[in-house]
Amino acid sequence: MSKVIQWINWSGSYVSTPDFIEYPSSEKELLEIIDKAKTENTTVKVVGSGHSCSLVGATKKGYLIDLKGYNQILEINTSLKTIKVAGGVSLEKICNTALENKLALPNLGTIVEQSIAGAISTGTHGSGFKREALDQSVIAFTILTANGEKKVFDKYINSEEFYTAVVGIGALGIISTVTLQLVDDFNLAIQTKSISFDEMIANVDCYKTNDYMRFWWAPHTNRVQFWTAHQTNQKTTKASTILSWYQDIFKGNIMHEFGLWITSFFPNLIPQLNRFMFASLLSKENKQITNFLDGFTLPIHVKQSVMEYGIPIENTEEVLVKIKALLDQKKYKVHMPIEVRFAPKNKANLSMAYNRDTCYIGIIAYKPYGKTMDYDAYFKDVHDLFAVYKGRPHWAKVTYYNKAELNSLYPNWKAFKDLSEKLDPNKMFVNNFLKRIL
Ligand SMILES: Cc1cc2nc3c(=O)[nH]c(=O)nc-3n(C[C@H](O)[C@H](O)[C@H](O)COP(=O)(O)OP(=O)(O)OC[C@H]3O[C@@H](n4cnc5c(N)ncnc54)[C@H](O)[C@@H]3O)c2cc1C
Repeated sequence: MSKVIQWINWSGSYVSTPDFIEYPSSEKELLEIIDKAKTENTTVKVVGSGHSCSLVGATKKGYLIDLKGYNQILEINTSLKTIKVAGGVSLEKICNTALENKLALPNLGTIVEQSIAGAISTGTHGSGFKREALDQSVIAFTILTANGEKKVFDKYINSEEFYTAVVGIGALGIISTVTLQLVDDFNLAIQTKSISFDEMIANVDCYKTNDYMRFWWAPHTNRVQFWTAHQTNQKTTKASTILSWYQDIFKGNIMHEFGLWITSFFPNLIPQLNRFMFASLLSKENKQITNFLDGFTLPIHVKQSVMEYGIPIENTEEVLVKIKALLDQKKYKVHMPIEVRFAPKNKANLSMAYNRDTCYIGIIAYKPYGKTMDYDAYFKDVHDLFAVYKGRPHWAKVTYYNKAELNSLYPNWKAFKDLSEKLDPNKMFVNNFLKRIL
């Protein structure tokens, strides 16, 4: 019996079973795989670090291309403050190279393990109403199309096509290179404090005045950890390595995961676990100055399934209050935290923040030691609530929308569909996820 080839994503939420897995390290090798797939009339799916928990990167046949070996920094131009990289390069490597050259990315999400191509393909974002999302830092990228052509998308040359393709959910071809606009290096003056849910909701408009702002609400506690940050030139304040390890790794991951595992047998203990974790992890007021990379990111080791939608920013308060009421009414036992972030409107057609100021709300179901929780009813109910506000889903995370519903949420959906049909007429890059939504 022949051996089944498997590729498992970061959280273990899906397993791909392609016919072949390839680990190319050059554009030439990528083109050869496209050529083989064309001759064999089969499919190609590319993955970066596999951090998406939706089926966006999954495949059951053809070639799966793992880009971890295609990870070269191709060019850094310190006068223009640009960097050109291969599609498989991690955000971490880009940030470290930027730092070595006294440059930075203006905004980042919570982790930097992702590949640049995977991150922009799913519309990965950070938080900060005054600062643009990651895909907005992209100034050009090249895609290797199904017929083996190298197509350049440049923000300043073919801007309409650029914004159609930049959040491309893997449907258009293989992103081979990406050029990013960097900014001068900056540090972050960060303040975290614990406030009540009601106080946070009453003052939620302060996203307008902070360079960066996000908050984590611990369900069943009525408490919120409120995080703000401002760009500064002040020197970094050095946190003790042992203390940070104890706080972030031991308490935030090891201890939390054990607690989550226990509550998988006794879900009624989840509110107590949340209260305990909030008190021991998130309740202290803290001020520090860090470099941009350390300031934005958090060490996240516990596997998870996540659903995150972008809703119109003016509905933030209303939606959060309704989620709270929903949890009370349905008596769902919900893992902390519910994460709330903000972004200004964005030009990328398939971005959650396309043409509207956006509040992102993310809900989490952890998978302690890989054990999957029964989260479907809870996620589905929150999805229904988001849908009332025309919430748009994060492509890397769980969603329950169908084709017609998605079509109605993105004014330029058709332009994206047309481009995907033009670049990939024989559906080389289409997997079941894309079949379902396009
Ligand atoms: C712990 C954790 C924290 C996270 N934090 C955030 C956050 O703060 N903000 C946020 O917005 N998201 C966040 N995410 C989601 C994450 O940013 C996305 O899942 C992102 O897509 C991961 O990049 P990747 O390299 O793992 O992509 P993959 O999951 O490997 O792939 C994602 C998609 O991109 C496509 N793709 C990958 N490479 C290419 C390529 N070269 N050419 C064409 N298509 C390609 C794949 O086919 C697939 O469709 C987080 C996820 C986790 C697990």
